[in-house]
Amino acid sequence: MVSFEDGSSIRARYIVGADGARSTVRHIAGIEFKDPFSGESYDEPPALPSLNFVLADAVLQRPLPKGIALDRVTAIFDACFFLIPLSSSADGNGILCRVYLGYVDGKQDLPRNPTPEYIQDELDKRNPFNEKLVILSVKTGSRYRTRSALANTFYKKIGNSNVLLVGDAGHVHTPLGGQGMNLGICDGVAVAHAIAQHLEGANLAPSEQDDVLIRCAESRRQNGLRVITGTKKLNYMVYWNHGWRRVVRNAIISTVRITPFARKQLALDISGLSNRE
Ligand SMILES: Cc1cc2nc3c(=O)[nH]c(=O)nc-3n(C[C@H](O)[C@H](O)[C@H](O)COP(=O)(O)OP(=O)(O)OC[C@H]3O[C@@H](n4cnc5c(N)ncnc54)[C@H](O)[C@@H]3O)c2cc1C
Repeated sequence: MVSFEDGSSIRARYIVGADGARSTVRHIAGIEFKDPFSGESYDEPPALPSLNFVLADAVLQRPLPKGIALDRVTAIFDACFFLIPLSSSADGNGILCRVYLGYVDGKQDLPRNPTPEYIQDELDKRNPFNEKLVILSVKTGSRYRTRSALANTFYKKIGNSNVLLVGDAGHVHTPLGGQGMNLGICDGVAVAHAIAQHLEGANLAPSEQDDVLIRCAESRRQNGLRVITGTKKLNYMVYWNHGWRRVVRNAIISTVRITPFARKQLALDISGLSNRE
């Protein structure tokens, strides 16, 4: 039975929780959501270091500093600063860029609506290039608190209903590596196939029929765990920005840059293409 806010309800054989990290479906199904490594619950403030972001789509003055290529992400790990120029938007004096300002100290009082002055001030502190980065306007901006969590199961049988979790309802992690939405779409496709097979297996014994959903849910959960494991490693790119840790981190980045296999694997992981089944 699914109840809606307006008081109505329906009986459903399949309930797919695609309702985000604070999922009501997951909550009602009594499925735990916690960091698979530290065991912290999603509802608790994360232990430090943890990575929060101010993200803004801002028009920056052209030309951009010479060190910023228009066709790729510029990542300044030391300053936890990422810039993605949206080159097709170049117009007159300006170019629209997605600006990520990361905070590794768990800072909580980040602005909900960052102003051009706020972003300019942060850019001035973080910009490693000789030329200044100048904000002309901010189109949209927000703040994000990130942490990792994985549902302890993506499938639960409640009465005759089959509850499945997809997307952020099942897994969340930091955006480094750009996988959250991609992974959620793959979850949705896999669950749709599994439900179709489940329907086709109507003449099987119930437990046999449910196997297809259980297998799908476990496979998607493993994918979530794999991505959380990967993003936790990527977090060290920004956490390790002092002393010997910084030296080790830079050695790893340099090695990846000159090793064709590692570059290819990184590209496959970030694009999500290594996640083909
Ligand atoms: C700073 C940042 C950068 C990111 N960058 C990337 C990236 O580059 N690439 C990438 O792939 N991912 C990225 N992500 C992750 C991505 O945004 C999420 O993984 C994705 O949006 C999750 O989609 P979802 O549909 O599972 O959940 P959501 O986007 O949270 O959607 C859930 C929806 O359910 C609705 N809902 C909730 N409760 C109810 C209810 N009771 N009834 C009805 N509706 C309800 C909500 O209103 C919402 O519309 C980033 C995330 C952050 C924070």
